Amino acid sequence: MIVLDRLALAPGLVLLVTDEGDGLPRPVPWSVDADRRAVSGDGAATALVGLLGAGSRTIGAFRITAWQHTTVVGERSFGVDQTNESVVVGEQAVVKWLRAAEPGPHPGTAVLDALQRHHFDGMPAPWGLLEWTAPGDDEPRLLATVDTLLAGATDGWTWAVDDLREAVISGSPEVVRETGHRLGDLVGRLHAALAEDGVSAATADDVAGWEAGADRDLEHALAVTTGEARAILAAYAAEVRAATRVPAGAVGSSLVRVHGDLHVGQVLRAGAGPAAAYVVTDFDGNPVVPPGERLLPQPPALDVAGLVQSVRHAALVLRRHEPHHDLAAVTAAAEMCEAAFLTTYAVTVTSLGHPGLVQPDLVRGFRLRQVCREFSYAAVHLPRWSYVPEAALPALLAPPSPTEPS
Ligand code: ADP
Ligand code: MG
Ligand code: MG
Repeated sequence: MIVLDRLALAPGLVLLVTDEGDGLPRPVPWSVDADRRAVSGDGAATALVGLLGAGSRTIGAFRITAWQHTTVVGERSFGVDQTNESVVVGEQAVVKWLRAAEPGPHPGTAVLDALQRHHFDGMPAPWGLLEWTAPGDDEPRLLATVDTLLAGATDGWTWAVDDLREAVISGSPEVVRETGHRLGDLVGRLHAALAEDGVSAATADDVAGWEAGADRDLEHALAVTTGEARAILAAYAAEVRAATRVPAGAVGSSLVRVHGDLHVGQVLRAGAGPAAAYVVTDFDGNPVVPPGERLLPQPPALDVAGLVQSVRHAALVLRRHEPHHDLAAVTAAAEMCEAAFLTTYAVTVTSLGHPGLVQPDLVRGFRLRQVCREFSYAAVHLPRWSYVPEAALPALLAPPSPTEPS
């Protein structure tokens, strides 16, 4: 481990920027006394929040951006699957140490900036950022973010599964309809805010790029899967290829900056019923897309597809853990949520002046790409997730059931 730079956080605590041999700088909160990476409870996250108190400034190659700050103490970690390392400070703020400092501009910085300028309130209020400029870089790299904690919140891998279960047990679709409406409103307002910075039109090259990307995602999934997953993918490969051809007329489709990694796990909910608060988090962009491409304008259907497909995946999670629920009832509940989401999304973006963001013809192709990526993700990182794409792919390619919106 080579130390490229260091920032004093507090007595005995520093932030190191290291190179572990792969040329990608990594932020490492470090306890000098313990001579190891600082963990939740050591105070490094608390110290970073403390640094925000002195306002925005530059210290050597480090840049601190501070929007708000409160003195807080006490640290704990989240017990959920995550890419980066998030620490809760004083039950008020969340410090996220990025796993790696990718070359900038970071989507998280740019998207957050756009959303703040356009007064989007469906995200945890940001407190600040820590960035670092590597020698020879033009743009700073993001090292850490600090946001308001949404107290008592769970992400959609919990709440969407709970809602689907409740809908199935009660036999009433109301609960998932309400959830779908709230999600449609949230994502519609997110996209309308991002569209305020400009909407561009997809070129023939863009459209060809989506098809090539779909082919790449399928080929990659075929290359990394084995066994049952590989057999299912191979059996459906020709259909996936056909279904990911972009419909005629897609040239000219609206492109905006998007979330890029939108799924129910990125939507936090606190509270229940009509009073529940929903916020969207994690503007890092898609981890499987090269950093330089994550900020490119995309069809908003990409996010829409990511979210609706993840609701289907939540339904599969429910069935996996509680197989006694009737498959048709669980599927119908997910479809109800999806229909409500799509309707409210269309109403929201249209009423906010951006009807071009509604792209129903593009959603299915992006859903299929998402499922291909889930195959790869499961094969490479999380074998126990494989049952999800294995069930999701045939379901997406099957003829739509009568309750599915056309
Ligand atoms: P990653 O890039 O590692 O996925 P996220 O930003 O998605 O990081 O955060 C990981 C998890 O931490 C979320 O799924 C959620 O459970 C929790 N979390 C993140 N930010 C907040 C917040 N502001 N309030 C409450 N929980 C949060
Ligand atoms: Mg992330
Ligand atoms: Mg996340």
